[in-house]
Amino acid sequence: MSKVKIATVWLDGCSGCHMSFLDMDERLLAVADRIELVYSPLVDAKEFPDNVDLTLIEGAVSSEDDLHKLQHVRARTRLLMALGDCAVTSNVPGMRNYFSRDQLLRRAYVENASCNQGIPTELVPRLLPKSLPLHAHVKVDLFVPGCPPHADLVFAAVSALLEGRQPALQSLVRFGWDDEKSDEQTRDD
Ligand code: SF4
Repeated sequence: MSKVKIATVWLDGCSGCHMSFLDMDERLLAVADRIELVYSPLVDAKEFPDNVDLTLIEGAVSSEDDLHKLQHVRARTRLLMALGDCAVTSNVPGMRNYFSRDQLLRRAYVENASCNQGIPTELVPRLLPKSLPLHAHVKVDLFVPGCPPHADLVFAAVSALLEGRQPALQSLVRFGWDDEKSDEQTRDD
């Protein structure tokens, strides 16, 4: 049986959503037999391939590079999942939307810089006027919120899609930080 081709992509996020993907722990082994991870920050693939079955995307769309990558990925993947609040709502990256791009750049590179003050004009990806969620630019097939989404939610979504089912995530979905997870972590400390 051919394996399902999966990719993960990191746009303007903190990598916490990818950590939740890895937090599936031993359940990763259960899905590993059925998938081929063809592109991800977790593997050493340089080019996003054609004909990907499912792509999980973390992060908002904040720069021209993000937008180009998103459009490139969308054209090559059958199902696209917005993974985490930044991808679903723009969340933390969206906090800069109250300011103009010029105000933001001046604050970061001039007012708060103790040396080499000046707004970069090359090498740094050009910011879009606003940081927006994925669906503001392309069609999204599944939204998985949370900051980060709980590993149970990621597992439920991925395993349902692997089985060709529409995931029923309502009881698991939470925006923002998961209080239960926070309690577990406090108990473990
Ligand atoms: Fe990080 Fe939260 Fe954004 Fe995921 S949703 S990339 S954990 S800030």
